[in-house]
Order: sequence, then structure tokens, then C-alpha cells
Amino acid sequence: MKEKEIACDLVIIGTGMAGMAAALFAARRGLDAVQVGITGELGFASGPLDLLGVHPVAEGRMVGDPWQGIARLCRDEPLHPYAKLEIATIRRAMEDFLAFLQTGGYPHVTLGARNQMLVTAAGTRKPTYAVPHTMQHGPTALAHQAPCLLVGFEGLKGFSARQIALSLERHWPDLRPVRLPFPDAQGELYTEHMARSLDAAETRQKLVDAIRPHLGDAQYVGLPAVLGFYRTERVLADLQQGLGVPVFEIPTMLPAVTGVRLRELFEQRLPAMGIRPLWQQRVLGVQRVNGGRWSLAVGYTEAERLVVARSVLLCSGRFFGKGLHARRHAIQETIFDLPVVQPVDREAWHHKDLLDPQGHPINRAGVAVDENFRPVDHQGNTLFPNLFAAGSLLAYQDWMRQKCGSGLAVATACGAVNSCADFLKQVAPA
Ligand SMILES: Cc1cc2nc3c(=O)[nH]c(=O)nc-3n(C[C@H](O)[C@H](O)[C@H](O)COP(=O)(O)OP(=O)(O)OC[C@H]3O[C@@H](n4cnc5c(N)ncnc54)[C@H](O)[C@@H]3O)c2cc1C
Repeated sequence: MKEKEIACDLVIIGTGMAGMAAALFAARRGLDAVQVGITGELGFASGPLDLLGVHPVAEGRMVGDPWQGIARLCRDEPLHPYAKLEIATIRRAMEDFLAFLQTGGYPHVTLGARNQMLVTAAGTRKPTYAVPHTMQHGPTALAHQAPCLLVGFEGLKGFSARQIALSLERHWPDLRPVRLPFPDAQGELYTEHMARSLDAAETRQKLVDAIRPHLGDAQYVGLPAVLGFYRTERVLADLQQGLGVPVFEIPTMLPAVTGVRLRELFEQRLPAMGIRPLWQQRVLGVQRVNGGRWSLAVGYTEAERLVVARSVLLCSGRFFGKGLHARRHAIQETIFDLPVVQPVDREAWHHKDLLDPQGHPINRAGVAVDENFRPVDHQGNTLFPNLFAAGSLLAYQDWMRQKCGSGLAVATACGAVNSCADFLKQVAPA
């Protein structure tokens, strides 16, 4: 092999929410870390950061206070990844993560000990912990059923103000839809293009002028999530000043500007914090070498370099992220071929009823870890002292139904980085 070789203390595999949070925590702890993964996939994040929205899932009960909810979840489901963490650790992880977003100019807003109810592009309501500041007035307007103008745009697919208003009629009768042309645009519209054009003051003014005649008695104005790209604070302030009422975004279908904003923030700031990025690349092969180090072949389609690391943190996601792969009869972990907790056979992957309130067993399949977030075998034995895992790859959780995707990613990333840092401290470099 002629590949270049890089040595480091830690390789973080994955650039989804768990991988990015892990990189942030590793940088804060001064770890010498390389991060590998395709960052484009973060563009699927729709904005809200969920901590715990539903428990118990089978009852579909919405959680008001996510902290109390987590305490109950950990009692009811002691194998859930949250149960490996102290509540104080989860709190600190979320605070650190939110502080990072704040200093990056994309603050997110929480109600502390209360979930907020957010309107989705489908016109449903969902409980969430933190929302981008551009969405913060939406939950208040909904809670008060305040008169609100909801603006959709000609040519923007997947966002119909009329459909949202119709779906929410029972919960928000004073939501009034309108469909307008977007300034200086024709034909099909793309959210990223719209957001970038609203970074310009001239477009903002034209949008204010277009919306103002429709305001009527509206006390709020809702729009799809396109309120700027790099300058969301400025865009929101100008629209609110121009319209004289609070303005808020509603998440759009994917890929979403909200995710791309996050991606750009991480891409800009993590290297400056000391993370060595190997982005737009994958781990194509892995080997354990002398002294128990990991040697990873990294490249896009062919190995271009070897990364030799004292430890690895695996944040490779589930089926969508490609950390898990469903073969004909079994689910496989794709990089280390780790044991996967899963139903005994394919027949048991799904319940007969697609909408079974319990959720499907396959969604709780994944990699089981010990109390230090190190993968274990089917008997519960830790497999390697220097391999850690975090995020949606973990077993015994159903983040989609429990509405805990980002919280689980951030909290377990924090737990795994802490354990990894302890390991690196104890074991001196060879
Ligand atoms: C459509 C959608 C909507 C969502 N909406 C919300 C929401 O409203 N609120 C919320 O809180 N959460 C939401 N989430 C979930 C949230 O983003 C999760 O936290 C996330 O999906 C899980 O993060 P993860 O980092 O564990 O996995 P993923 O995001 O799946 O990331 C996996 C990463 O691993 C990398 N990877 C895989 N294999 C390799 C390899 N061989 N080499 C290198 N890298 C590899 C991938 O490139 C990717 O970067 C949503 C997720 C999706 C997909």
C-alpha cells in the first residue's frame, strides 16, 4: 500500500449529529482527533432538537417535562442508552451543545424543563426540546392559538400553507394561509436558494412588501424554514421590524436549510477547534494492529490514506446513515462487524400492523454497549478497551418514536468521549 499514514489518539467515524457532537466534545477535552464521514447527510436535520417527546411509546403519551420523562424512561427501560448516563451529564451535554450553537450565531431556544409543541410541514404537532431561534415564536403562537398568517410560496414543493392550516384547523382555527410569489424567482423553488437570497437586505425588503398587504389582524407570521443562511439573526430581525409582528419558521421537507446551516457551522468551527477533518471520505476497512491500535483505510471509493489511532468512536448511524445493513436474514454492523442486538429472524423484524403503536422490533436493533459506551458481545462482555460507540447505532432505543434523536446523539456522544478520554489518560502512548 502506498497510502499516506496519519497517527492520532482518536478517530470519530460519522458526521451526523452524534459524530459532530463527539467532535465538539473531543475538541473541548483537547483530544487529538480525526473525523471521517460524508458531511452532506447532516443536511437532513429538520431543525428541532428532541430530547424525549414520547413515553411510553405504546401509549403514544407526549412528554411535558423531558427531564422527568428521561428519569421515568430509565426506570422503565434500563437498557435504553440514556440509562447509561447521569441526568446531570445529559444536561451538561445539551448545555454545551447549545452554547456552541449560540456562539456560532445560530442559537437554539428551550423552555428549560418543558417541551415545546412545534408545527411540522405536514401540519402535525410534535413535542421537542430546543428549536432554532428562527422557530421560537411558532410554539408560542400555537399555544395561544393567536391569529396568524401562514405564508407559502408559488413553486415551493412540499410546503403547502393551506394544507397545514387545514390539518391544524381544530388546534389553531385562526391560522390563515396565503400563497405568494417569492421575490425575483420563477418556476420551481429550492429552500437553500431562497435562504441564501434572503441573506440580502434587498430581497428581505421585497418579501416584507409582498407580505404586508395580507397581514390583516395577524399577530404572527409563519413561513417555511428559509429565513437566511449565514445571517438568520439579521433576517429575522428585519422581517419582524418590517412586518411589525413576530415571525417564525416551520420546518420544511428534506433536505432542509436547517440541517445545512448546522453542517456549515460545524464545518467552519470544528477544524479551528483542533479537529482534523477527513470529510467526504469513508472508512473502507479496519484492522487491529500492534499495541491494540486501530488502522483504518480511508478514502472515497478507494483507500487513499491509513489512519492509525489509539481509539475509535463509532457514530455511523443506522440503515439511513449506513452504520447498519439489513441482509436477507440478519442485520449487520458495517465497519467492525460488531454483534448486533436484533430479533431472532426476519419474520420478527416488523409487527403485522404497519402502524403498531409499540413500534417495530427492528427499530430497536443495534449495537449494545457497556457502561463506558464500549460495544459488547451477546454475553455482555466488552469487546475492545479502545472502541466506543454512540448515537442512533445503539441498541434498545427507538429514537423516531420516542422523539429523542438529537438528545440521544448528543448525550451518548458526550458519554462516549468522556470514557474515551479516561481510557487515553490511563494508557500512555506506546
Ligand atoms: C429525516 C430525518 C429527520 C430527523 N428529524 C429530527 C428531528 O426533528 N429532531 C431530532 O432531534 N432528530 C431528528 N433526526 C434525527 C437526528 O438527526 C439523529 O440524531 C440522527 O439521525 C442520528 O444521528 P447519528 O449521528 O447517530 O447518525 P446519522 O445521522 O445517520 O449519521 C451517521 C454518519 O455515519 C457516517 N458513516 C456511516 N458509515 C461510514 C463509514 N464507513 N465511514 C465513514 N462514515 C460513515 C455517515 O456518513 C454519517 O455521517 C432526524 C433524522 C432524519 C434522518
